[in-house]
Amino acid sequence: MDPALIRERFAKLHDPRGADHAAEIGARARSLGQVVVVISACLCGEPVRWDGEDRRSGSVLERAAGAQVLPLCPELLGGLGCPRPRVALGSPDGGAVLDGAAGARDEHDQDATAALVRGAARATELALLCGATRAILKQGSPSCGTRETHVLASEPTVGFSERVAGVGVAAAALRRAGLSLEDDGA
Ligand code: SF4
Repeated sequence: MDPALIRERFAKLHDPRGADHAAEIGARARSLGQVVVVISACLCGEPVRWDGEDRRSGSVLERAAGAQVLPLCPELLGGLGCPRPRVALGSPDGGAVLDGAAGARDEHDQDATAALVRGAARATELALLCGATRAILKQGSPSCGTRETHVLASEPTVGFSERVAGVGVAAAALRRAGLSLEDDGA
């Protein structure tokens, strides 16, 4: 897809009328006989990471050739800003955060649980509104990680967080909603 169109789509999906726009994308995909693929917005080139950078991946975008791209950042959708403090989970299972069995905190020791759960729910709502069946997500993120995520460090000497085997909160929600998950291979 044209990068300018993806950028315009990202902006519309993250404004208060994002649901209307997701429905329009779904209708367009159906009329063209295309599938809709959720892609982490940072992989699409949007500078939405905690540090204000992006992780544009040409190979990820190639994998979505011939599909309608749904560029989403669950952490922005949950109300977190950019740049923002890093966030880590209290459990490597994002599903446990969704279920209230674990939480999340930022590097200033503020509770980030509600923002991550809210962002996961909104990302899932938008994905379902347009009939997305597949998602390509940023590996290692507390929201988007599909096989690895970040948890709060087990010891202060390790730093704020550790990357471990697990799944992020939004990835867990999208999987529960029936989407097949892939990662960027990073
Ligand atoms: S990994 Fe997910 S939550 Fe983090 S910046 Fe990228 S799209 Fe946003």
